[in-house]
Amino acid sequence: MTVKTRFAPSPTGYLHIGGARTALYCWLYARKTGGNFLLRIEDTDRERSTQASVDAILEGMEWLQLDYDEEPVFQTDRFDRYAEVIQQLMDQGDAYYCYCSREELDEMRDQQRKNKQKPRYDGRCRHRSEPREGVDPVIRFRNPTDGEVVIDDLVKGKIVIANKELDDLIIARSDGTPTYNLTVVVDDIDMQMTHVIRGDDHINNTPRQINMYKALGAELPKFAHVPMILGDDGKRLSKRHGAVGVMQYREEGYLPQAVLNYLIRLGWSHGDQEIFSREEMIALFDIGDVHSAPSTFNTEKLQWLNQQYIKTLPVEEIIKHLQWHIEDQNLDISNGPELADVVNASRERAKSLADLVASCRYYYEDFTEYDLNAAKKNFKTATPDIMQALRDQLESLSEWELDSIDTAIKATCKTLDLKLNKVGPPLRVAVTGSAMSPSLDVTLKLVGRERTLKRLTQAIAFNRAKYA
Ligand code: GLU
Repeated sequence: MTVKTRFAPSPTGYLHIGGARTALYCWLYARKTGGNFLLRIEDTDRERSTQASVDAILEGMEWLQLDYDEEPVFQTDRFDRYAEVIQQLMDQGDAYYCYCSREELDEMRDQQRKNKQKPRYDGRCRHRSEPREGVDPVIRFRNPTDGEVVIDDLVKGKIVIANKELDDLIIARSDGTPTYNLTVVVDDIDMQMTHVIRGDDHINNTPRQINMYKALGAELPKFAHVPMILGDDGKRLSKRHGAVGVMQYREEGYLPQAVLNYLIRLGWSHGDQEIFSREEMIALFDIGDVHSAPSTFNTEKLQWLNQQYIKTLPVEEIIKHLQWHIEDQNLDISNGPELADVVNASRERAKSLADLVASCRYYYEDFTEYDLNAAKKNFKTATPDIMQALRDQLESLSEWELDSIDTAIKATCKTLDLKLNKVGPPLRVAVTGSAMSPSLDVTLKLVGRERTLKRLTQAIAFNRAKYA
C-alpha cells in the first residue's frame, strides 16, 4: 500500500518550530517510501482560526521547501461530510445527544475530585431518550466501556489503555460544528492515511480516536507520536525561550537548510553525523528511529549549523536566500561589486545571512561616519600621512587586481618604513568604516578603485580635522 502522511496544523498562530519538525518527519517519511504527503488545515475552530495563520503556515512550508503532493485540504470545506458521519454514528447508536449544562458538568467534576476520582464525563445522557427543553445538545461518542485499546506506536512502543479510563468525547458542539477528534478521524480515513505522525500532546486523544475508527469499520493507520521539544530550562518550548515561529528564523538570518538539518537531528540521529543533505535525510530517516524522549532546543547548535551551510552551499543558493535580507535591510546593491564575489569574500566569517548583509553595506554605499571604537583604536596622529602615501601608491596602479593592490600596500609600508600592522588597520577603517572585513586586497578590490580613493581622501580630511 502506498504510504500516505499528512501534516495537519490548526491555523491559530504561526508555524511553530515543533510543528515544523512534525511536518518534516511526515514529509521525509513520505518521500523516503515514495508515498504521498498532504497538508491539511484543521480550521474548524472558527473563532481561533485566522487567514493570517493559514498564510504563515503556507509560507513556512514553502520556505522550508516541504512540498505537498495535493492541494491543501481545508476542513471547513468538509462540514457536510462530517455531518454525514456524525449522523451515521447516531444511527448506529455509537453517538448520543448530551444535554448537560456547564454548571452540571462542573458540579460533576467537583464531586469526582472530592471522591478522589479522575474528572471525566460520567455518561449520564447515554440513556436519555427525551430532549431537554430549550437546550441545544452536544453530541458525544459512545466509547466502549469494556476491553482495552492497544496503540502500537512507532515511536513510543506499545501503549495499552483500558476503555473504562476513557470518557465519551464531544464530537459535535451545540451549534452542530464537529470537533477535532471527529474531523481528524473522518479525514484520516477518507484521505487514506497510512501513517499518522504528530506531536505526543495528542497521545491522550489516540485511544478514543481508535475507538471511532472501529465504530466506523475503518482500518487503523499506524501511529507515531513525536515527543515535545523543550527549552533549555526543561519546560516545553515556547515564546519565553525566544524565536519559535519558523519565519522568525528567516528574519534572524537562518537558512532553511540549516533549520531542517537542525530539526531532523532534534529527535533523530544517525551515528554521530551532524550534517545531512536533503537527499541524505530522505535516504537515512525512518520514523521508527525517532527518539522517544523529548529533546532540548539548543540555539548555539542551530547557529553552528547555519554557519556551516553559509560557508558551503553553492553561492547561487546563498544569494537566493540573501535577497530577503537585502530588501529587509534596505540595501541597494545596484551600484557595486557582484554579489557573488561579496558572498564568497565574506561568508567564512558571517554568523547569519542578516549579519552577512549588514557587514557588506560598505561595498555598495558610502558612509561619513566610522565605527567609534575602530576609529579610536586605529586613527592616530600619523594617519593622514599614511593615508596620503597609500592613496598615492594605489592611484598610480595601472590595474586594480589583488596582486597589484597588495604590492601597493607593501610598497607604502616600505616607503614609510612601517610594519603592515601600522598601515593595514587604519586603511581598513578608512575604506570600510569598521575594523572587520576580508583581507585588505580582497576588500579593496571589491570596493573598487574609485570608491577606495574617495574614501582615503575622506579619511585624510577626517583625521586632519581631528589631529590638527
Ligand atoms: N490539528 C492538530 C494540531 O494542530 C493536529 C492533529 C493531528 O495531527 O492529528 O495539533
